[in-house]
Amino acid sequence: LSPPDAFAEEMAPRILRGERRALARAITLIESGRADHRAQAVALLDRLKDEGRSALRVGLSGTPGVGKSTFIEAFGMMLTGQGLRVAVLAVDPSSARSGGSILGDKTRMERLSRDPNAFIRPSPSQTQLGGVARRTREAVALCEAAGFDLVLIETVGVGQSETVVAEMSDLFLLLMAPAGGDELQGVKRGIMEIADMIVVNKADGALKTTATRTCADYAGALRLLRKRPQDPPGFPKAIMVSAAEETGLQAAWNDMQELAAWRKAQGHWDTRRAAQARYWFEEEVRQGLLARLTGDPAARARLADLGTQVAEGTALPAVAAEEMLHWLGR
Ligand code: GDP
Repeated sequence: LSPPDAFAEEMAPRILRGERRALARAITLIESGRADHRAQAVALLDRLKDEGRSALRVGLSGTPGVGKSTFIEAFGMMLTGQGLRVAVLAVDPSSARSGGSILGDKTRMERLSRDPNAFIRPSPSQTQLGGVARRTREAVALCEAAGFDLVLIETVGVGQSETVVAEMSDLFLLLMAPAGGDELQGVKRGIMEIADMIVVNKADGALKTTATRTCADYAGALRLLRKRPQDPPGFPKAIMVSAAEETGLQAAWNDMQELAAWRKAQGHWDTRRAAQARYWFEEEVRQGLLARLTGDPAARARLADLGTQVAEGTALPAVAAEEMLHWLGR
């Protein structure tokens, strides 16, 4: 195993040339729990950070069955057909909990996975969503350095995963199925607030009429919920596509580019990326503290010991916690 700096010097040019095997290997290192791997990965990321390459990072969420894989495959194939390079990463909250996954199925996106201008990487499996997310965020940076034009970050619409994906995306898309008015009510307010575009999929065949109504409903809801300085006129917007029939995809891409260009011109783009960098820094600190608390046997023993004192009533929770924090910071 080469020392971190030597490793970074060797790998960086290969990543910059867009070598897929080098990219895959570097992402594996990022996902590894080993300290020596971690050191190599961090050295590489550090070596690449000033290359100034910039991809459009698009977060995409939707419940299972809404058509995420179908959409990503059709959309990705359209873009590679236009000469663009597309990377697809995933944040799968289920893999964090159970080791199993909703997203990780290898048969998904078969055409796109064979496309030389596409790179698909399933969600890393780690014990915590926080761990999955921050590694994915680093994988996004690697894909960017490798010259991809678009990095799609996919997640399932459950729990907190949308929020963390939004924290690594320039634009955030919510994929929805055609639905009756009652189901519309069930959409969590929080996710409507972070969505830049709601994409109603399956606008085809017998579902088309419902899709049209659903789209209008969401458009109305978005107008009521949100008006932010980082939204140009007309955004956030709701649009219709059919991933299966491959309709509406170019219009969706035009909208994404329009929004991205506007935010760049207005300075919102840089502001958002700066805020995100700060978020991930603080997240690393939080996770690092947590790792110190749970990863070190001495810390666990101290925690158990103080916990017993609290349980037996010989120490106040607040006092014992103070002592624990003091011990950690020593
Ligand atoms: P995911 O779980 O969100 O990744 O959803 P999939 O892409 O696996 O799609 C779930 C189901 O919806 C599959 O049976 C697809 O064939 C179907 N589906 C996906 N997109 C469309 C669409 O645009 N129109 C119709 N009618 N069906 C679709």
